[in-house]
Amino acid sequence: MDVFFTIDVEVSSNGWKNLDERFVNIFNQSIHGKTPQGQFGLPYQLKVMNDHGLMSVCFIEPLFSARFGQQPLDEVVGIVCAAGHEPQLHMHTEWVDEARIPLLDGMNGKRPNLRDYSVAEQISLIGIGKRMLAQAGVPHVDAFRAGSFAFNHDTLKAVHANGIMYDSSYNTTMFGPASGVRPGETIWWPFKHAGICEHPMTVFDDGTGKLRHVQLTACSFKEIEKLLWAALEAGYASFLILSHSFELLSGRERSRSDPVVIRRFRKLCKFLEKNSDSFHLRGFHGLEPEVPMETPPMLRSPIWRTGWRVAEQVYRRIYY
Ligand SMILES: [Zn+2]
Repeated sequence: MDVFFTIDVEVSSNGWKNLDERFVNIFNQSIHGKTPQGQFGLPYQLKVMNDHGLMSVCFIEPLFSARFGQQPLDEVVGIVCAAGHEPQLHMHTEWVDEARIPLLDGMNGKRPNLRDYSVAEQISLIGIGKRMLAQAGVPHVDAFRAGSFAFNHDTLKAVHANGIMYDSSYNTTMFGPASGVRPGETIWWPFKHAGICEHPMTVFDDGTGKLRHVQLTACSFKEIEKLLWAALEAGYASFLILSHSFELLSGRERSRSDPVVIRRFRKLCKFLEKNSDSFHLRGFHGLEPEVPMETPPMLRSPIWRTGWRVAEQVYRRIYY
């Protein structure tokens, strides 16, 4: 089974005041994962993965550079490429109105969700993002993911218009069902739409009837392990895991390392290396745009495993 370990690589700020004074700190936290306990950001994560012979897909957010310049984006792309992982395009439109030179005509205030832009604006923004990545050393983009999974059916048209073949914005626990893409359906398997091959987030029923996506901070190691085996047994062709460049940090303002999630990440890497004959980590480059003939079964995690995760989250909140 193909496993896409996707890392959304983004400069993420709590609030928009005094951005320029805070930028160095924000960048060091969001990208380098700098904490008093050490650095647990992107370079650390890619090194641990490389030590286990694994690769990730790094969905890189470039729009922040319209405010802070080319150099920090060059640095981000450099980290990903030097580690041999796959750079792809991510986009948080929260940055559009923060640009020094306007990216769009007539922008007035913040529109954080890509789905709130017209199709022409989305085509233009995705084109800008692609060019920014190209300038930083990513000549070709195969896949796109909207920030906060906040896409709509126009996004797929805009992705296609920019010559990108894959999208990974569909998340059935978020804007997927309201996107206008295959309305009335709940989808968790790859499908073709508007000339795009969509790779939605892998989701599971957590035993309470609620669907959750598979994210490093939101699932215990045991939960992810069992879901991987269950997907393999059920004949899934692929499995998508979500993480972030700052996923291993916690606390307000992400000021501390999160030992529980760091341990979970290291365990998962060890597990994936050990079971590399069953789970093949890969990217979108060179992928055949195949979709399953039949609807794959919904993954389920028993309630006691959910209970264990909740206990672990509470432990994290109290002790870290
Ligand atoms: Zn994001």
